[in-house]
Amino acid sequence: MTDSNPDRYVVQTQDLRKDLQMGQVTVQALRRATLNVRAGEFLSIVGPSGSGKSTLLGLIGGLDTPTAGRVFIDGVDITDLSERALTRIRNEKIGFVFQFFNLIPTLTAQENVALPIQFARNRRFDPTRRAQELLEMLELGDRMHHRPNQLSGGEQQRVAIARALANDPPLLLCDEPTGNLDTISGALVMDALRQVQEDLNRTIVVVTHDMNVAAGADRVISLVDGRILHEVDPRSAAQITAVDVLRAERATGGIQTVRAGGR
Ligand code: ADP
Ligand code: MG
Repeated sequence: MTDSNPDRYVVQTQDLRKDLQMGQVTVQALRRATLNVRAGEFLSIVGPSGSGKSTLLGLIGGLDTPTAGRVFIDGVDITDLSERALTRIRNEKIGFVFQFFNLIPTLTAQENVALPIQFARNRRFDPTRRAQELLEMLELGDRMHHRPNQLSGGEQQRVAIARALANDPPLLLCDEPTGNLDTISGALVMDALRQVQEDLNRTIVVVTHDMNVAAGADRVISLVDGRILHEVDPRSAAQITAVDVLRAERATGGIQTVRAGGR
C-alpha cells in the first residue's frame, strides 16, 4: 500500500468533464482534465477561484461523479461504482483535509483523531494509541487533551491531518488546507504534509489558489477555466500568474513548463 514503485499511479483521471447547471446556464467546471499522480508524490494543483479545483478534487475523491471521463484510484476504476462501493474506497484509500478543520468541538484532539478508527471498526489499530502516535508525529504531543477552541488554527489543521490519516489511507486530498490560516501557520501545515509524505510515504494532492503554497510541493499543475494547462516549475511558481500560463499556451499550443513573465 505504501510502496514507492515509480510506475504505479495512485490517481489517474482520463478526459474528465464536469458540467454543472446554474439555472439556465451550464457551467463547464472541468474540461478534459487528464492527470496522473504517482505513489509517494506530493502534487499541488493551483488555480484561481472558480477554476474547478474543488470539482476536480471531489471527482478524484469519489464525492461526485463526472459528466464524462474516468477516475482510477490505486488502479481501480471508480467512475461507475455504486455509492456503497465508493464509500468503501473513500474509507480505505483516501483521507480528506478541507479549508475548515471541522473538528468536533466537544472532543479533545486525541478523541477527534480516534473517532474515524472507531467509526470504521478498524481492528488494525487501537484508536487511542494510533491517535497519540499520529499527533506526536505532527508535533502535537502536548496538545492531545486540548479541545479545538484551545488550539490555534494551524494546530487544528494538523489535528485534521492526523484524523485524515487515522485509518492509514495511501492518499491525502487537501482542498485549500491553508485557506483559513496566516502565512506562517500555512507554511507549517505544508511542512506537516511534507512530513507525512516523507515519513509515511503517502501520496499528497493539495489544491490551492495560492502560488506560494503550491510551490511547496514537488510538482505543480495549473488549472484555469476547468482545464489542466501546464506543469509549472515549482521554483518559480510563486511568480507565475494564470495570465502567464494562458499566454504561454497561446504561444506554444502544447504542454510545457511555464516560466514567470510569460515567455
Ligand atoms: P474552485 O474550487 O477552483 O474555486 P469550483 O470547482 O468550486 O472552483 O467551481 C468551478 C466552477 O463551477 C465555478 O464556475 C463555480 O461557480 C461552478 N460551480 C461549483 N459548484 C457548483 C454547483 N454546485 N452548481 C453550479 N455550479 C457550480
Ligand atoms: Mg474550491
